[in-house]
Amino acid sequence: MKIILANPRGFCAGVNMAIEALETALKKFGSPIYVYHEIVHNRPIVERFRNKGVIFVDTIDEVPAGQTVLYSAHGVSPEIRKHSRERNLRAIDATCPLVTKVHMEAVKFAKDGYTILYIGHEGHDEVVGTMGEAPESIVVVEDVEDVDALTLPADGKYAFLTQTTLSVDETKLVIDRLKAKYPQIIGPGKDDICYATQNRQEAVRDLVPEADVVLVLGSQNSSNSSRLAEIARLSDRRSYLIDSVAEMDDAWFCPEDTVLVTAGASAPEDHVQAVVDHLVEKFQATVESRVVREEHVSFPLPKELRVLVRN
Ligand code: SF4
Repeated sequence: MKIILANPRGFCAGVNMAIEALETALKKFGSPIYVYHEIVHNRPIVERFRNKGVIFVDTIDEVPAGQTVLYSAHGVSPEIRKHSRERNLRAIDATCPLVTKVHMEAVKFAKDGYTILYIGHEGHDEVVGTMGEAPESIVVVEDVEDVDALTLPADGKYAFLTQTTLSVDETKLVIDRLKAKYPQIIGPGKDDICYATQNRQEAVRDLVPEADVVLVLGSQNSSNSSRLAEIARLSDRRSYLIDSVAEMDDAWFCPEDTVLVTAGASAPEDHVQAVVDHLVEKFQATVESRVVREEHVSFPLPKELRVLVRN
């Protein structure tokens, strides 16, 4: 068996920042710290923090008045920020700056009178947060069928935006369909799919022809991890999206397989290594690390914490 380890894989700059922010908040303020929604969409990470005294909530009302609440990497709507202020919470904003950029684009387009056709997955935390910036001006479309079903006037003033963790290929199709239907539509250049999503997808696309099986470390509710498994499936490879080695079944593999291993932007590297170690032990696999693209991106801690870390 041969293992090809895809690079880049795993944590992106936004996830690194959000995790460091929560660790710093725990150190400075002690537990409990409340986090609005999952800090990142990864079950092992959420469990680790739960064990350290972090309480994950789905509504601001669950946070006792005066306590500390941290907003996850996916961002929140202005309504949530307002609600936190009203409850006198100490809010720490660990929204990824690349999500914030989309929020700002939404605000600007809405202010300029555009109806925004926002390509994203209905109900995803990031989509809910971005929509909250201009709920009257945003219509969510998921795929080309949704574009075909739109009944907006042909001569309207339209702009498009995208969620940051979509499939690059599918999103291009949706944007092309929007441009065909509403040629006057404007957008933020190409799309808002972030560098980390694009690079991880590019690595899988480049390496998948060499593989028989693809293992993606990541949670089922992680959008960017699911897209990686999807690319492998579309290439007719056996493909599995798993949180950890405990979910892996040796019956998935033949001894002569080439196994491509990658991880979504919220999946921790120790779980990747555990999978590799298991395959090396069980199948005497050799490991080859392949770099498709270098990444050198990092984001500073949220401003509410930067001051505390300096002091
Ligand atoms: S996947 Fe992209 S947008 Fe999401 S946290 Fe990471 S860098 Fe930010």
